[in-house]
Amino acid sequence: MIASNLEKILSELPQGVRLVAVSKFHPLSELQEAYAMGQRCFGENRPQEFSLKAVQMPQDVEWHFIGHLQTNKLKLVLPYAHLVESVDSVHLLDAIQNWAYIHDRNIRILLEVHIGAEETKQGFRPEEVLELLSDLSQYPNIVFCGLMGMASHTDDKEAVAADFARIKSLFDHCRDSFPQLTSFRELSIGMSDDWRIALAHGSTEVRIGTAIFGPRSVAGMK
Ligand SMILES: *Cc1c(COP(=O)(O)O)cnc(C)c1O
Repeated sequence: MIASNLEKILSELPQGVRLVAVSKFHPLSELQEAYAMGQRCFGENRPQEFSLKAVQMPQDVEWHFIGHLQTNKLKLVLPYAHLVESVDSVHLLDAIQNWAYIHDRNIRILLEVHIGAEETKQGFRPEEVLELLSDLSQYPNIVFCGLMGMASHTDDKEAVAADFARIKSLFDHCRDSFPQLTSFRELSIGMSDDWRIALAHGSTEVRIGTAIFGPRSVAGMK
């Protein structure tokens, strides 16, 4: 199943759009199955699980961290992360800068933007993103690679499209306003239920779990 799911999704993705296979809660054997199919980019959202899988999978996997990250868990994530997609506060950004400076590393991140209707969704508001990007002198060790967002959790396709249209317009505005940020190129939008809508709104990277690996077991890792 994993192989045919992957194949079907890849055949529909335009060139230049990256597929992050979201493997959270799925056992290593299923990641290995996707890896055998040529998939190299995986996303995880829990620090412990992320680091355990990172050390067990082959070295050439590109790991994306996509979950809420507490500052006391940086050491589990930052050594392995090709991209931290879920930077949702200045507090976290400051902590990542500090870790990166101490370890003499540059850390690539996306700013998570609050675009959905849910009150609880984490992330920056659009005006906060613009304010932040206008002065990055505090963050010499952080590479700002773009934006990540999750649409409202609803079956209403037009509401989802409106969320994606908003983040795309913010993304374009950032690129126009800060052309010196040459790495600011990624717009990570689109999940199992809405990735086709996201593609229509300029997604450069989709994060797909269920549509590849099937439902996640509630009990956690099998
Ligand atoms: C779990 C998760 C996904 C994948 O969700 P699916 O609906 O299973 O495709 C994408 N992005 C984030 C941030 C996630 O936490």
